Amino acid sequence: MIHTNIALFGGAGFIGSHLARRLLREDYHLTIVDIDDEKIADVRSDDRVDFYELDIRDGDDGTVWTIIEAADVVIDLIAYANPKQYVDMPLEVVHLNYDQNLRLVEDCVATDTRLIQFSTSEVYGKTGGRTGEDLVFSEDSSDLTMGPVENHRWIYATAKQLLERMVHAHGIENDLDWTVIRPFNFIGREMDYLIREPDAGTPRVFASFMSALLYDHPMYLVDGGENRRSFTHISDAVEAMVYVIDGEERYNREVVNVGTPGNETTIHDLAYLMRDVYEAQSGNGSVPPIKTVSGAEFYGEGYEDCERRIPDVTKLTDAGWEPQYDLRETLEEAMSYYVEKYDQPEAVSLD
Ligand code: UDP
Repeated sequence: MIHTNIALFGGAGFIGSHLARRLLREDYHLTIVDIDDEKIADVRSDDRVDFYELDIRDGDDGTVWTIIEAADVVIDLIAYANPKQYVDMPLEVVHLNYDQNLRLVEDCVATDTRLIQFSTSEVYGKTGGRTGEDLVFSEDSSDLTMGPVENHRWIYATAKQLLERMVHAHGIENDLDWTVIRPFNFIGREMDYLIREPDAGTPRVFASFMSALLYDHPMYLVDGGENRRSFTHISDAVEAMVYVIDGEERYNREVVNVGTPGNETTIHDLAYLMRDVYEAQSGNGSVPPIKTVSGAEFYGEGYEDCERRIPDVTKLTDAGWEPQYDLRETLEEAMSYYVEKYDQPEAVSLD
C-alpha cells in the first residue's frame, strides 16, 4: 500500500475541497493549508488529514518549509481567480498569485519535492484572429495572446504565465519535477459564493446566475453574453487530477489542460439553460429577467474578455480520462445542491 503524502496549498477552496474528498477515497495522506476550513469540515475530521490554518502572505516561521519537505507531492491551488479581483486589485493579485506562489516553488526546488502547480486557461488569452482548429488551445503549440496593458484584466494571466515559465525554468536549471495544470471553467457545488443582492459582490458566472435565480434579481449578460466558455464539472476535473497525480512519469514537466471541450457554450445560452434547469428543479415558474450590461459597467475600467476557450485534452484522453458530464448534466448536478439547500427564503444563510 502506498501512503503518498500530498500537501494541498489552498486545499480548502472550491477545487481543493472537491479534490481532497476524492483523494480520501484512495490511500493518501493529506496536509491541507488554507486561510480557513469552511468548505472542508468533513474532510478535516478524517484521521488521514492534517490541517494548517495559515496565510502564506504572513511570512514563514518555517511551517511551510516543513510541510513541503515532508510531502511527496505539493499541489498549489492558492490564487485569486476571479476577474473582478483582477480589475479591482491588480497589485494584490500579482503579489499572491506570483510573488507568494513563487516562494512555494522555490521551497519545492530546495527540498526536491514534486510540484503540481495550478495555473489558468486564461494564460491563452484572447482568441484573436484564430479560426478552425486553431481555436482549440493546445498546451505546447498555442500562442499566449494578452491584451494591451491598459486593459489590466490581463495582469492575472500575465502573472500566471510568468509563474508557469519560472516553474519550467526551475525544471531546466534545478531539476524540479513539475506539472502545470490549466483549468477550464470548473463548476460545481460550493463554487465561489452566493450574493443576495446584485451589488453584493461579483462571483464568477455560475455562482452569479445561481444567485440571481435563488434571490430573484436579474441575470446580467456581460456585453450580450456572446463570449464562450467550456464548462467542466468539478468531478471530471478532480478525476483528471488523479490521473496527473498517479501519472508522475507521463506528466512530468508537462503543461496539462483540464476541461471539457464538448461543453462549450455562449454565456447567453448558459443563462437560458440555467433558467430551464432551475424551473424544472424548483418548480418555481417565476424566473428572473435576463439583461445586458457592458463589461466596464459590470467589472469597471480595464476589463476585456476572452472570446472563446476550448481545451485540447489529448494529454488526458490518451491516458484514459474522459469527462462524464455534458453541460446540462453539469448544471443539473451543481444546481440541485443549491436548490435543495437555499430555495427557501426564510432559511437563507450565505456562505
Ligand atoms: N459573465 C456574465 N455575467 C455574470 C458573470 C460573468 O455575463 O454575471 C461573463 C463574463 O463576462 C465572461 C464569462 O461570463 O464572459 C465567464 O466569466 P467568469 O467570471 O465566470 O470567469 P472567466 O472565464 O472570465 O475567468
